[in-house]
Amino acid sequence: MKKAAYWHREESDCRCVLCPRYCLIKEGENGFCGVRGQRENELYALTYAQVAASAFDPIEKKPLYHFFPGHKTFSLGGLGCNLRCRHCQNFRISCCNVEKERAGLQLLLPEDVVNLAVRQACKSVVWTYNEPSIWYEYILETAPLVQQAGLKTVLVTAGMINAEPLGDILPHLDAYRLDIKGFSGDFYRWLTGFDCLEQILENAMAAKAAGCHVEIVTNLIPGQNDDELQLRGLARWIVENLSKHTPWHLTAYHPNHELQIAGTELSSLERGLRIGREEGLAHTFIGNISGHIAQNSYCLACGHCLIKRNGFKVEFNRTVGTCCPECNFKLPAYCC
Ligand code: SF4
Ligand code: SF4
Repeated sequence: MKKAAYWHREESDCRCVLCPRYCLIKEGENGFCGVRGQRENELYALTYAQVAASAFDPIEKKPLYHFFPGHKTFSLGGLGCNLRCRHCQNFRISCCNVEKERAGLQLLLPEDVVNLAVRQACKSVVWTYNEPSIWYEYILETAPLVQQAGLKTVLVTAGMINAEPLGDILPHLDAYRLDIKGFSGDFYRWLTGFDCLEQILENAMAAKAAGCHVEIVTNLIPGQNDDELQLRGLARWIVENLSKHTPWHLTAYHPNHELQIAGTELSSLERGLRIGREEGLAHTFIGNISGHIAQNSYCLACGHCLIKRNGFKVEFNRTVGTCCPECNFKLPAYCC
């Protein structure tokens, strides 16, 4: 437990201003995310350095395809979430009773994270699984140490954080892997009960402006966010506000948690792929469908297959530095 950043007093309550929910928190109670609570007149980050899930993963699993492909990353996740999506794959940690679960968690202090990542020959540390924004103090203290050790830092996020706290953390992030879950406020309200799309889009632009490598994921839910208007609108927004070289991952939804409608058809993903290309995105990928050719990266100049993937595995990477070995074209927005 650590004193929280980004709050102020309002009479006997604490107003948390870390994310757009702006919870007003009474003594002894916690905010919506479950991990920030008022104790003895102060707001605390209740789960500081308490890790609910960790693993050594290929970076492709996040998914990040153009950020040092094939490297091993140290993944860390905590408890709680400030969104609570109906279909959350990680609902056991994100939508749990934090007070009940947090007692038995593993304590990994910032220096422990660095030591473990270095010992396991990881190239990066990634905050993932639940929404990392609510683990703010932990990331703010750990990320600089990770970078000082020569490793990269990655946030896998739904982007639900206010501009000012995000601004403090961005200088310590190398990659920002953002879920843009759909392209309408109504869809966000349906999925999460809260429309925060505008803030999420602003945060994506801020991450890009701060020099982070940015990749976007959209999980297509049949009949909810896979219509022409949302897909075309989002693809166009990425081109106009981030870059046409920003990788856009369209992933298949599978029934989970509170959402039990049928999974995504391949035809819907391929329609999204076509729309991404029509709107000018250079790299639209299809995820959660094993062996699809839209899992691979191709040279934009000559069409040569540069990186072949199968699931989370890189079968080959033929790039020479950032260039195509056939025509020497330099792949933009590609980190290696
Ligand atoms: S971070 Fe948590 S406590 Fe703070 S405003 Fe968001 S949901 Fe509420
Ligand atoms: S934002 Fe992510 S972790 Fe949180 S509920 Fe949604 S899918 Fe789960």
